[in-house]
Amino acid sequence: MLRIGIGNDTHRLVAGRPLIIGGVNVPYEFGPEGHSDSDALAHAVIDAVLGALAEGDIGVHFPDGDPQWKDANSFKMLRHVMRLMKKRGFHAVNADATVMLERPKLREHVDQMRENLAEVLQLNIASVSVKAKTGEGLDAVGRGEAVSAQAIVLLSD
Ligand SMILES: [Zn+2]
Repeated sequence: MLRIGIGNDTHRLVAGRPLIIGGVNVPYEFGPEGHSDSDALAHAVIDAVLGALAEGDIGVHFPDGDPQWKDANSFKMLRHVMRLMKKRGFHAVNADATVMLERPKLREHVDQMRENLAEVLQLNIASVSVKAKTGEGLDAVGRGEAVSAQAIVLLSD
């Protein structure tokens, strides 16, 4: 059986936080505010996998107040969700994602993000797509106040 899931995540950008996207530490003066390392791309992928499994969302599995996930590496959270997926008898088929960020440009980091996600999703890099877009100066992303990501993941049993 095939199952598809969608994920969406946004974090406010604040001074003094590392900008981690798709497991890549992108040099910048602002980073996402949040409980974990607040990797919006990893969080969108987590929600996509959970969505495909109809297992709720990231907040259900990793509650904000839980000290276990304070400043946690979001890839650790993604690995946790992958174990849940395997327990349900599924594997990933492909993943597609878009990161929305006004600055800095992410193009040079995109392949590393794909590689990081491919490793955890146990996919060939050719089956993992990451696209980077700006907000064209509009909305919170466009004003440089937020980083946002969307992801779709297809699972098969
Ligand atoms: Zn998040």
